[in-house]
Amino acid sequence: MNDPRAAQLAANLAAVEDRITTACVAGGRKREDVTLIVVTKTYPASDVRLLAELGVRNVAENRDQDAARKAAECAGLPLSWHFVGQLQTNKARSVVRYADHVHSVDRLRLAGALSGAATAAGRELGCLVQVALDAESGARGERGGVAPEEVGEVADAIAAADGLRLDGVMTVAPLAGAYAGQPRAAFDRLMEISARLRETHPAANMVSAGMSQDLEHAVAAGATHVRVGTAVLGVRPRLR
Ligand SMILES: *Cc1c(COP(=O)(O)O)cnc(C)c1O
Repeated sequence: MNDPRAAQLAANLAAVEDRITTACVAGGRKREDVTLIVVTKTYPASDVRLLAELGVRNVAENRDQDAARKAAECAGLPLSWHFVGQLQTNKARSVVRYADHVHSVDRLRLAGALSGAATAAGRELGCLVQVALDAESGARGERGGVAPEEVGEVADAIAAADGLRLDGVMTVAPLAGAYAGQPRAAFDRLMEISARLRETHPAANMVSAGMSQDLEHAVAAGATHVRVGTAVLGVRPRLR
């Protein structure tokens, strides 16, 4: 490999693969039961292209403007695009053009906007309910997400909406509250919420949890999808 960036991404990817495999072995899980989603936010489309060449099949973005541009530049590559950021309803129409999954559905109005946009585009969009484990009932988390008590209501709305498919739940380990610094406990709680959800929506079995710092805890808890940015692409140039 002559391109130094390609070599760097390959090495980072191999290290992350190793961590996921080790965590799977430790937890008695099959490697193929955990999907790696590489979070490419702030990095250029050229990196996305290299990742695709290295075998990555799932990428995630958290800002519609960047994501829309990159997805267009990477059209034709065998990639699934995941949207993982806080989303305004007026971006729904753009997001459904390229996203296969939105992990950050956290209110009825957003589900409604995504449904309208997906239906108009003739697409089916996979949706995950983002859970804010540190949010009080009736409030949203600082980084988005619904309080655990409200997951059912948002999930039912997604399941009933045209153009949307309820795929599961997502969380970001909280920085504040009872779960601060306790990623394993946070992810165990998410698994309980997922189990409860699957009682009424058995197909909604995606559990999106774990990032560069805590992916082992997420795999141990039972996550089906880990979202890894920094450990593959490097420390992001700008904080977002
Ligand atoms: C940026 C981001 C990630 C990846 O975080 P890293 O620490 O860089 O691995 C995962 N999930 C969400 C929602 C993000 O915004």
